[in-house]
Amino acid sequence: MDSLYHFIFALVGGYVLVKGMGMRYDFRVLVGLAVMTVLIDLDHIWSVLVFHHIFILAPPILLFFAALAMGWKRIQLYSVVLAVMFYGDLLADMTIGMGIPLFYPLDDSLYKLPYVVMNPNFISPYGLTLFLYFGLIALLILIYRAMKAVKGRGYP
Ligand SMILES: [Zn+2]
Repeated sequence: MDSLYHFIFALVGGYVLVKGMGMRYDFRVLVGLAVMTVLIDLDHIWSVLVFHHIFILAPPILLFFAALAMGWKRIQLYSVVLAVMFYGDLLADMTIGMGIPLFYPLDDSLYKLPYVVMNPNFISPYGLTLFLYFGLIALLILIYRAMKAVKGRGYP
């Protein structure tokens, strides 16, 4: 996929996530995170996919747990948003794009979601991408709201 698509996809997904959670956020930070997501697309310019793998999710996930331990609520939120944006980039390249080396550097094989099971008149790669991206975002919002309801007002 092209980088402009990835940027808009990341920004819209991040916006829906923070709005769905009902949290205060800075739109400039969301734009910055979407730009960070597009930076992994330098791979497409170099034609060597060194950032398009599952391990790119490790830094935001580790940051989330570090922020959780330190009680930094904003960093927790933004690390989840960044992880979701990275997920969207990898997902789009696996459905619409040419495939990614999901387990690089352990395995160089390109992974792509199978087309053979999809009838494009029923489920296209674009529809599947939107479903899997916004489906995860909806799931995260539901989990967050459930946690908030259980923990009460102390949760941000
Ligand atoms: Zn990409």
